This record gives sequence, C-alpha cells and structure tokens, in this order.
Amino acid sequence: MQQALGIYGGTFNPVHFGHLALARALRDTFALSEVRLIPTGVPPHRTPGVSAMQRLEWLKLSLISEHQLNADDREVRKGKVSFTFDTLTELQQEQPHSLLVWLIGGDSFAHLPSWYRWQELLEMGHLVVANRPGFDKLPADIAGEFAKRYVEASPQALARGKISVLPTPLMPVSSTTVREKLARGEDVSNLSPIAAILQQSGLYSKNT
Ligand code: ATP
Repeated sequence: MQQALGIYGGTFNPVHFGHLALARALRDTFALSEVRLIPTGVPPHRTPGVSAMQRLEWLKLSLISEHQLNADDREVRKGKVSFTFDTLTELQQEQPHSLLVWLIGGDSFAHLPSWYRWQELLEMGHLVVANRPGFDKLPADIAGEFAKRYVEASPQALARGKISVLPTPLMPVSSTTVREKLARGEDVSNLSPIAAILQQSGLYSKNT
C-alpha cells in the first residue's frame, strides 16, 4: 500500500478534545503511521498573552500519551501566518514518496475558495473533511468540487485529488467555547486535555 502522511493544521487556541478525537480518527480510518498536528504561527495579539509557542507547547503536552500523533513546529518557527499551500509543498518535498492526507473541519471546507491557491490545494493530496456546522451549506464552487472528487473514507480509497468525509459524529466542542468558558471562570475539564493548566494560567480570563 502507498505510504501516506496525515496532516492536521489548526490554530489550537487552545487545543481541545475535538482536535484529539479528529486526529485519532484520521489515523485510524486511513491506517496512517503518522499524523502531524501543525499549529499556525498566528501572531499573539489575537489572544493577548498566548503566543504561538505557548499553543505549540500545550499541543505537545496533550499528545504525550498519544500514538503516532506528533506536533510539528514549522509554522510556529516561521513566526507568521503561513499558507497551507506552502506547508503542504514543504512536506511533500521532505517526503516525496508519501501521499499527503490532510484534514480540515466542514466549516473550514465551506470557506476553502478564500484560501490561497485553493484549487491547486485540492490536487496536492487526499483531503479529509470532518463534519461540523457549515458543512451542510456549501457554496456552489466547493460543492461542485466535493461531488466530483468524493470517495468513501478507507485506506484503499486514498489517492491524490480525492475528498472523503471522516466517519465521526458531530463534536460540538470548539476553542471559542473553551476561551469563553475560561473568561467566565468556568470549568473546562470536559472540553480540553490541558484544562488544569489553562485554568491555573488565567491566560484566557477577562482580565488578561
Ligand atoms: P476556534 O473556535 O477558535 O475557531 P476551532 O475549535 O475551530 O477554533 P481550530 O484549531 O481553529 O479550532 O481548528 C483546526 C481545524 O479543525 C479547523 O479546520 C476546524 O474546522 C477543525 N475543527 C476543530 N474543532 C472541530 C470539531 N469539533 N469538529 C470538526 N472540526 C473541527
């Protein structure tokens, strides 16, 4: 079978249980030997006090006991927002024999036409979409691509230019919910693997 590398980019501001569940599901559904979770290098002013390095460290902590899920610091090291197109190009150059299997949520997928070189992106690997509100209302251009490229999710279906849907239930958790709850001083232990650290840090509290 073809060698394949799972790729899951996100802001992870902060990491939540949905992120972990999706990364595991990507690994298991496609029998991948590795999934790279790649935090963006978004500048810290988006959330004062929370640097890209901090988000990366939290992600690494969350992955300590996970098998074959690894944090990749390339975008954080760049220190600025990096296009998915550039990240996939780099990874493909590093692993020329691997098929890139990249994951995004249904809300991100609906906005794909606003991404840098999005049509080329669709040709760069096998795209996997996780169901999320927004996926049910796709704009015409992206709905057309989905219909043309869709294949059922399985290791045998992996191929460049194809799109599959991850067979997971809807997961209502988001980083926004985690941040909002922390700002209200509420417990987030059912939402994030690093809840205790987040709560003690006070970083997302209203006063920071
Ligand atoms: P925020 O609430 O700050 O927008 P988020 O929860 O969407 O954050 P990100 O790190 O921005 O988290 O997400 C990375 C990717 O994972 C995106 O493509 C997003 O759509 C997807 N994603 C995150 N959480 C879920 C979820 N619960 N279900 C499906 N997809 C998700």
